[in-house]
Amino acid sequence: MSDVPEELPTDSGAVATNRVLMVFLDGVGLGAMDFATNPMAASWPGFRALSGGADWVRGAARVGPQIHFSGIDACLGLEGLPQSGTGQATLFTGVNCAELAGRHYGPYPHSATRQTIRDQSVFQRFRQLGVAFANAYPPRFFEWVNRTGRWPTTTRACLDAAVHIRTIEDLEAGNGIAADVTGLGLADLGLPVSVVSPQTAGDRLLSIADPHGFTLMEVFQTDKAGHARSRDMARRILQQLDALFSHLAAERPPELTIVITSDHGNLEDLSVKTHTRNEVPLAVLGPGAPHFRDVRDLVGVVPAMEAVLAGGTGATGAPGSLPDAGPGSAHDAGPEGR
Ligand SMILES: [Zn+2]
Repeated sequence: MSDVPEELPTDSGAVATNRVLMVFLDGVGLGAMDFATNPMAASWPGFRALSGGADWVRGAARVGPQIHFSGIDACLGLEGLPQSGTGQATLFTGVNCAELAGRHYGPYPHSATRQTIRDQSVFQRFRQLGVAFANAYPPRFFEWVNRTGRWPTTTRACLDAAVHIRTIEDLEAGNGIAADVTGLGLADLGLPVSVVSPQTAGDRLLSIADPHGFTLMEVFQTDKAGHARSRDMARRILQQLDALFSHLAAERPPELTIVITSDHGNLEDLSVKTHTRNEVPLAVLGPGAPHFRDVRDLVGVVPAMEAVLAGGTGATGAPGSLPDAGPGSAHDAGPEGR
């Protein structure tokens, strides 16, 4: 992929003792405790391991020294149904991009938000700590985006910040994760991908996160299942995520804070095929959890992650600001460096 930038090297100058692993779920809100319409209302032990035992339904909340679980607003002060383009841009920049665009817009980034994504994405903000995007994409993705120019928010932010976008070669080398966790969807397309267990996928995700201050994984099948109003699709992806989350909760290194959230509701109400205005979950497990207490909406997630990363570096910078890597800090290539 000649036009795919290489990943930034891990910065060995800033020793990030605190790290963040963010798993972004597209289209998952907190809905009614109603098994008929809400597949999240079933018992999901892996999800509950990341929410202090709370079910992921409307009104649920838990707070503890290592846990934060609450619903947060995805409507951002605008009418209408929240959309992925503006919701994700907001979630990954900390800027209200729906307000910038003047409306909810998606699924791709709105032109009025392009500069904000370029300059203020998580990959730009946290680059000095080492950043990684864990998802691996098949050739058809690159063919499609190169033909249409329509990059989804996450990969657009990677391009802008020169973060490596993983391929199925990376995946097959154990250095990436499929958006459906196991890789079954890619294997079903006839691609040369070995299907792995959610546990193996979880180990790979943790090892990608290990040398990076900030690591992101994106899951889009949740939103697709919601649009399709498909209970089977919903159950399939939730089962894989549930097993992945159980494993992540069990194997999480002490200094890693896991953050799970979404851009808008959808999957939690299969009675409609559209997005919803429901709150979305914010589940945080790890030492950074207290920084999320005051997060009320998508805008607040990035500043909270920034506080986690700033607080754990042992740098001399003021609290709440990221440390400067400093002049002459060595940049040696991390495991993904090439
Ligand atoms: Zn959608």
